[in-house]
Amino acid sequence: MNIHEYQAKQVLKEFGAPVAAGVPILSADDVEGAIEALPGPLYVVKSQIHAGGRGKGKFKELPDDAKGGVRLAFSPDEVRTHVKEMLGNTLVTKQTGPAGKQVNRLYLEDGADIDRELYLSILVDRETSKVSFVASTEGGMDIEAVAEETPEKIHTIAIDPLTGITDGDVTKLNEAFLLEGAAAEDGKLLFPKLYKAFVEKDMSLLEVNPLIVMKDGHLRVLDAKVSFDNNALFRHPDIMELRDETEEDAKEIEASKHDLAYIALDGDIGCMVNGAGLAMATMDIIKLYGASPANFLDVGGGASKEKVTAAFKIITSDPNVKGILVNIFGGIMRCDVIAEGVVAAVKEVGLEVPLVVRLEGTNVQKGKQIINESGLNVIAADDLDDAAQKIVKAVKG
Ligand code: ADP
Ligand code: MG
Repeated sequence: MNIHEYQAKQVLKEFGAPVAAGVPILSADDVEGAIEALPGPLYVVKSQIHAGGRGKGKFKELPDDAKGGVRLAFSPDEVRTHVKEMLGNTLVTKQTGPAGKQVNRLYLEDGADIDRELYLSILVDRETSKVSFVASTEGGMDIEAVAEETPEKIHTIAIDPLTGITDGDVTKLNEAFLLEGAAAEDGKLLFPKLYKAFVEKDMSLLEVNPLIVMKDGHLRVLDAKVSFDNNALFRHPDIMELRDETEEDAKEIEASKHDLAYIALDGDIGCMVNGAGLAMATMDIIKLYGASPANFLDVGGGASKEKVTAAFKIITSDPNVKGILVNIFGGIMRCDVIAEGVVAAVKEVGLEVPLVVRLEGTNVQKGKQIINESGLNVIAADDLDDAAQKIVKAVKG
């Protein structure tokens, strides 16, 4: 689960990280209060969407030369003008895709006097199986470009889970950022706080881009992107309250209500599979035969008729779906139960696109018989390879 920048900063502030004073603006009524609460004269108006690259983003509704999604303002009047232009409009950034995201919330923040912009993130490094810091002096801009063009400027510091972050790790981070004096003293305090926040709140990503050295020599968290491990959210009711459903895919929200592991993708073949591994393999083989999956979906080991129906509704609600592939291995589940579920779901939801069903495992013959005798326009497949070829052919002609 992702949260907004202003919420992430609030969480980090609770752990003692230095952030600027700021006030969220949820509607035009909040503007005057926000201006009064901040000292000025420099303000920053920041679009709150679950995507980065806002500063360089463009508003769809505004002319091409209009300012982006993060704007400096040198007077209260300028703040008012920016808020009017930004709130409710659609911001397109490198991370939103061409459709962009509607800006429903803004964050008015105290402006900082920036000397240097650094990049810091904390994530779980799968290679070392350790929580790791990624540090670079090249913050504020596109870190992917830095990684590609000057990889030597990116330092990875893995933290031993038994000791937690050590003085040695902190020294390495200070060196990676070339911090000295007051900034290095700030670093000694800040890095352990960020590590603590990451571990205690079960984050999967904490990205501060930029972390800044201010003209007065001190550090400040200027941008914050935080993602949480969904499987651990039950331990954090305070974090769950920060969820903003308007930022999430409607199909994914519906799927989570039915306990379905669903992720929307941008291809045209809807997939209904049991087991995450089989679901991945199904997406791979669709790609192999030249098409793209519209989603990842694992209906789970004990897929009931109700679950299968819900899954069908979600898949068919996606206007990009031009065909559906059902790929079920009946291990604990019996194929005849699955077949009954599929037939019932198709009868209830209707079917306007080709449907290929591949069943394997317990009671497979019975299952196939149910499909064949259903009278529905279902294309039966023998194995995964056959199923993938049939659905790609049905969609591409
Ligand atoms: P994004 O990464 O989505 O573009 P950021 O929060 O990183 O958004 O802001 C983009 C840039 O705007 C920063 O790199 C920084 O130069 C500037 N900026 C952001 N917040 C402030 C602030 N409070 N004071 C001064 N400059 C800021
Ligand atoms: Mg940023």
